[in-house]
Amino acid sequence: MQSEILISEEKIQNRVAELAAHIDKDYEGKSPILVGVLKGSFIFLADLVRKMTIPHQVDFLTVASYDGGVSSTGVVRLISDLSVNIENRNVLIVEDIIDTGLTSNYILKILGVRNPSSLEFVTLLNKTECRKLEVPIKYYGFEIPDQFVIGYGLDYNQFYRNLPHIARL
Ligand code: 5GP
Repeated sequence: MQSEILISEEKIQNRVAELAAHIDKDYEGKSPILVGVLKGSFIFLADLVRKMTIPHQVDFLTVASYDGGVSSTGVVRLISDLSVNIENRNVLIVEDIIDTGLTSNYILKILGVRNPSSLEFVTLLNKTECRKLEVPIKYYGFEIPDQFVIGYGLDYNQFYRNLPHIARL
């Protein structure tokens, strides 16, 4: 498989540290719950929380919108739900990439009705060009063009999630 590095490991690590510092400042005293959207966010989430210093909790949910290919099916399904109650909690949803915005809107809808105090998004990658539905993104790492990328948690057919950088397929 041919791939070309789009964002180096060093750039990612520096940016993740900046995001962690912003989150620390904005959520001081709020004990947020960081919700990783599986599977793509697991590496970003792991690096992000290890760079944060404020008290926080971590939980996960799993959704699927790609069936192994390189484009969204447009149908988002909940595969596994949160394990904690988020009522009156400050929830920060951690995504690997926001593309069409369909997944994030689905998550907003299902978690919004559970009455969290706040519900915000942090995504490592943002493909604004591809947006079909608006997403209120509070923090993002990098804006990228409309290209399919892999690495740092992102897969192609479940492979390449272990690459330390982001590459163009
Ligand atoms: P959306 O619902 O915003 O279109 O897409 C969100 C999900 O689609 C992401 O969480 C990710 O799983 C997948 N996705 C979107 N773009 C890419 C990409 O360039 N590469 C990979 N590997 N997955 C992507």
